[in-house]
Amino acid sequence: MIPKSVLKALREQIRKELYSAYYYLSMSAYFTGVNLSGFAHWMRKQYQEETSHALKVYDYIHERGGKVILESIDKPPSEFKSPLDVMTKVLEHERSVTASITALYELAVREKDYPTQIMLDWFIKEQVEEERSVDEIVNLLKMIGDAPAGLIMLDRQLASRGS
Ligand code: MG
Repeated sequence: MIPKSVLKALREQIRKELYSAYYYLSMSAYFTGVNLSGFAHWMRKQYQEETSHALKVYDYIHERGGKVILESIDKPPSEFKSPLDVMTKVLEHERSVTASITALYELAVREKDYPTQIMLDWFIKEQVEEERSVDEIVNLLKMIGDAPAGLIMLDRQLASRGS
């Protein structure tokens, strides 16, 4: 049995991952609107990845015999100023997700819920990777500044994201 408090936090984590997916899909739409199809593709992959994170927690609750209850998902922002604005928001958002996973892990430790701790190990590693890849794009965008050639090159690079 998953401790009650952990189960509640896991359901909340499903909501957060699905909100992330929704947020990134909105960003993908923004990029399509400004003709940056590589960025749009990258963000759509990000959307799919966040959906898979939500499903990982969803499946885990079922594996432990818990009941999945889905919460409402907020409307994401739809106005963005620039690619740098978007990617900076992705980085901030991923940092907040990392903080919530850390809090969830600490709760599982307090509740002596070892299976949840083991499940969360994967998420902790994943967050390191997420933050690193987004941070790299933010730094490239800062270097590019207002140079369209650089932006077009980065757009082509992001178009090649496989998963
Ligand atoms: Mg995630």
